[in-house]
Amino acid sequence: MSERRILLGNEAIARGVVESGCAVATAYPGTPSSEILPAIAAYSDEMGTNTQVEWGANEKVALEMAIGACYAGKRSCAVMKQVGLNVAADPFMSVAHQKLDGGLLVVVSDDPGCHASQDDQDSRSYASAAKIPCFDPSDAREAKAMVADAFDLADRYGIMAMLRPTVRVDHCRQDVEIIENVVSQRDAVFDRKPAGKRIVMPAVIHGFLDDHSARFEAIRGEFGAMDRYNFEVPSEEPANLGVIACGISYSVVRDILNRLGRKDVSILKIGTPVPLPVNLVEDFVDRHDRVLVLEETQPVVEGQIPNRTAVMGRWNGWVPKTGELVPEVVESVLLRALGVKEDLSDREVFNKIEEELSPERRRPRLCPGCSHRPAYFSIRKVFPDAVVASDIGCYGLAIAQNAVDTNICMGGSVTAASGIYLAFKADGKGTDRPIFATLGDSTFFHSGMTGLATAVYNRHAFVLVILDNRITAMTGGQDHPGTGDKMRSGEEGVSVSIEEAVKGCGVKWLSVLDPYDIEKNKKTIEKAWEHASSNGEPAVIVFRHPCITMLKVKPEYRPVKVDPSVCIGCGICIRDFNCPGLVWDQATGKAMVDDRYCVNCGVCVAVCPKGAIVPEGGDR
Ligand code: SF4
Ligand code: SF4
Repeated sequence: MSERRILLGNEAIARGVVESGCAVATAYPGTPSSEILPAIAAYSDEMGTNTQVEWGANEKVALEMAIGACYAGKRSCAVMKQVGLNVAADPFMSVAHQKLDGGLLVVVSDDPGCHASQDDQDSRSYASAAKIPCFDPSDAREAKAMVADAFDLADRYGIMAMLRPTVRVDHCRQDVEIIENVVSQRDAVFDRKPAGKRIVMPAVIHGFLDDHSARFEAIRGEFGAMDRYNFEVPSEEPANLGVIACGISYSVVRDILNRLGRKDVSILKIGTPVPLPVNLVEDFVDRHDRVLVLEETQPVVEGQIPNRTAVMGRWNGWVPKTGELVPEVVESVLLRALGVKEDLSDREVFNKIEEELSPERRRPRLCPGCSHRPAYFSIRKVFPDAVVASDIGCYGLAIAQNAVDTNICMGGSVTAASGIYLAFKADGKGTDRPIFATLGDSTFFHSGMTGLATAVYNRHAFVLVILDNRITAMTGGQDHPGTGDKMRSGEEGVSVSIEEAVKGCGVKWLSVLDPYDIEKNKKTIEKAWEHASSNGEPAVIVFRHPCITMLKVKPEYRPVKVDPSVCIGCGICIRDFNCPGLVWDQATGKAMVDDRYCVNCGVCVAVCPKGAIVPEGGDR
C-alpha cells in the first residue's frame, strides 16, 4: 500500500531509512541535518518497526555505533552535517576499506553558503577520498529513493555508502510516495571468521585495498547504468550549450530555463557524483561545443572530467569559486555562458522595494531571556580583560556583547584555553591574565570532556564554564546524555551528571550556579579564577538554567521598565548586556524596554549600575 504525503526533505530521508529496514540509526544534531533522526524515531513508532534510534555524544560516537551494528550484519545509518564528518573522519576512513556484513549508510548534510556552519566544505570530496559511492539528491523525492538504492548498493558490495543532501534539499517540501512495507532484514549475527576480519591493521587492510578499488570501479559501472539519477534532458532546439547539473542545481537550472523559455540548452543530470560515471559525461562533453558545470560546493564532478577544454565551471572561475548556487547566481552564470546580457530590471525593482521598506538589519545575538547572556555579563564584569574562548553553539552569539574572543570547533574552547595558558606560561606569565573557556552542556559531552581531562592532567590554569541550558539548543532542541530523554515513545534514558563527569576528569574545584543571579555569580567567578591561578589547575563553573525558548511551562514573570528619571544613558545595558528587549531611545538618549521582544525575565534589573531598570509594581 502506498500514499503520497507532503514531506520535508529530511522527513523523506528518514522515511526512506525506516522503509529500508535500517535496524540502528544514530546521529549528532547539526543544521541542516537535525530533523532526520527524530523523524526516523517518529516513523519507526508509526510503522511499528524496532529501529533503534540514538543520539551519540558526537558524530564519531554516532558513526562508530552504526558501524558496530553493521558488523553484526544489520543495516545501519549515521546522520550528521558536513563539519560533523570531520569529527567522524577517523572511523569513516577506517571503515571505508573494510568488507562489511550489513549495509552502512552515512547521511551527511552539506551547507553550501555557510547558513549555519563555520565552513563551506563539500562532503563528496570525503567520499572521493574514501572511495565510497555518493548519492547527491536534487529534491526530497529523489533523496528518499536514493536512500533505498544506497542501502541496496552498500549491502551488495559490503561497502559504506553516502547520501549527501544539501540544505535546500533537506529543507524543501515536496509530495513524496511512502509505503508501509519495510525491507526485511536478517537477524543479527557476528561472524568471527575469518579471524581478524574487523581489525584495522596494516596486514589486514593490505588484503582489502585491491578489492576496495575493484568495488569502486564496479560501482562506477553501475552508476553509468543508473538512468533514474543520471540522465540527459535533451534540448528541443539545436543545443547552444550543455549543462552538467548536480544536486539542487539541477532543479534550479530547469526552473530557470523553463521561465526563460530557452529550448537550446541540454542538461546532463548527475545524481551519483562519486564515482563519476565518466563515460556518460565524456559522451555529453564530446557532443557539445561548450559545457557549463553547476555543482555545490567544490569542483568534484568537474575535476573528474578527463578533457576539460570545453568545460566552464569552478576550476576556471566561470562559476563563482565559493558559496551557494542560489537561483540568481545560476541565472547570471547561465546567461553569461549563453552570451546574453543579463536583464537586471527584476533585481532593480527588488532593490528599490527593499530600500523603501528599509528593513532593519540586526546582528545575530542571544535570545531575550537567554541564560547565557547574564553568565557572560558576569564574567566580563569581574574580568573585563579576561581571554574568553568560546565554542560552537548558541553561546558563540555572545560575540555581540563583546564577551567572547575565540571560536574554533566543537570542544575547541577547552583546548584553546589550554593553548592560551601555555603560551603565557612559556613567557613566565602563565596566570597573569584570567583565561576562561565556555561551552554548552551538549558540547561538553560532544568533545569537551577530553580537553578537560587533558587540562587536568597537564595542570592548565583556566576556568571552564559549562553553560548548561538542558538541551542542544542551537540545532533546535535535541536531547543528549545530560538530559537523559530519548526520542522513541516509551523509551527512557538516564541523565548523566555533568558534575560527576567533571569530578571524574579530576577537577577539584566545582560550583553550580543559576546564571540569572548576577550578583552572587560575580563573587564565585572571582573565586574560581583565584583557585585556578593559585593551584595551577582548571576550575569549573556550571551555569544551569533551562533554555527559555524551550520551556514547556513559561514561568510567571513581572514586566520591567526603565525609569527615565534614573537612567543616565550610560549604554551599559545595551552594549554589555545586549538583550533585544532593551533598545535605545534616540529622542531621550536613554534606554527603554521594547515590549515586542522582552520576555519579562527580569535579569536586566541587576545589570544597570544606577538601578534604573525596575520591575513594574516595585521589587520582586
Ligand atoms: S538603564 Fe541603566 S545601564 Fe541602561 S543606559 Fe540607563 S543607566 Fe545605563
Ligand atoms: S526583562 Fe530585561 S533581560 Fe529579560 S528579556 Fe526583558 S529586557 Fe531582556
